[in-house]
Amino acid sequence: MKVSEILTQSTKAFPSIEIVPPLRGITKNELLESIAPFMEFKPKYINVTSHRDEFEFREEPDGSFSRHMVRNRISETTVCAAIMSEYDVEVVPHLICGGNTVEEIQSRLDNMAFLGINNLVALRGDSMTGEKRFSPTPGGYRYASELVEGIRSYQGSSSYRRSRGLETDDRFFCIGVGAYPEKHFEAPNIETDIANLKKKIDAGADYIITQMFFDNQVYYDFVDKCRAAGITVPIIPGLKPISTSRQISVLPEAFSLDIPLELTREIAKAGDSKDKVYQIGTEWCTAQCKDLIAHGAPAVHFYTMGKSGNIVNILRECF
Ligand code: FAD
Repeated sequence: MKVSEILTQSTKAFPSIEIVPPLRGITKNELLESIAPFMEFKPKYINVTSHRDEFEFREEPDGSFSRHMVRNRISETTVCAAIMSEYDVEVVPHLICGGNTVEEIQSRLDNMAFLGINNLVALRGDSMTGEKRFSPTPGGYRYASELVEGIRSYQGSSSYRRSRGLETDDRFFCIGVGAYPEKHFEAPNIETDIANLKKKIDAGADYIITQMFFDNQVYYDFVDKCRAAGITVPIIPGLKPISTSRQISVLPEAFSLDIPLELTREIAKAGDSKDKVYQIGTEWCTAQCKDLIAHGAPAVHFYTMGKSGNIVNILRECF
């Protein structure tokens, strides 16, 4: 079922889970074991992130270093196929502009359609390690809005089907896109960023998932601004529980977001107690989740980033 249909049919908020594909060398069984703890909550779908190739430096026999492009993670579509083979759950692979030409995007869509996957999240993707700003791949898309447009005009399996007089569906893919309640770090202001978000919706995106935030008021204000700008699609809030004191400095830098003073003070008070920090982060996120549900959020999206324990506790409390 498409996420848009799930959203329309749901009468109450449900959790969605986002996982990161495993590194090379991890087996299918190990992957399935890592997501098993979420299955007791019967998630309606699981998102699988997409990662571009990275540079790796290798030392040559003469002592010099050569630069190689390497793919460190299993592909999102392969991970989706593994999940589909074991669990009765929808999968939502992410698809990024970065590192892909238009033809490569088409091929990825072909692979998804082949597996019967008709949900995806369309994103620009981040810059490569070592690059300050995102630079588009030659022959690829610059912005997620262009990618959404490309997916909507996806002809691959449709043209094959058309040529044989078989049924076709130009809206085969249900498309989610990302948004930033605290503004994307490159945007000059939130208004411009929301205007750019609207371009993705106008290009055919069906719903929005937000970047993580730690103050729900930021999300409520963002939703109000989006509605005022004419964006009517569902806006799913994204959450991530803090689990280490280091994240207090890492997350704002990595995701361009604020962590409320009250939360940073609580974590500072916990000092060296890792367990206490973990507990504070889990409780904060549980309170956020309960409040979002009470305010009518359509669903709550969890960034698991390879961890399940704290999110399982939150799901148990909230759903
Ligand atoms: P865009 O919507 O293209 O926006 C990027 C910037 O360009 C913004 O500042 C925007 O305001 C601006 N902009 C957009 N359109 C225009 C235009 N026409 N003219 C001028 N400026 C414009 N990254 C990954 O690599 N893999 C993932 O799987 C992944 N999953 C994510 C899931 C979610 C829910 C979110 C919120 C983010 C995810 N990201 C992922 C991170 C994302 O790729 C980065 O944040 C990236 O920097 C921006 O992606 P975007 O799709 O929002 O870009």
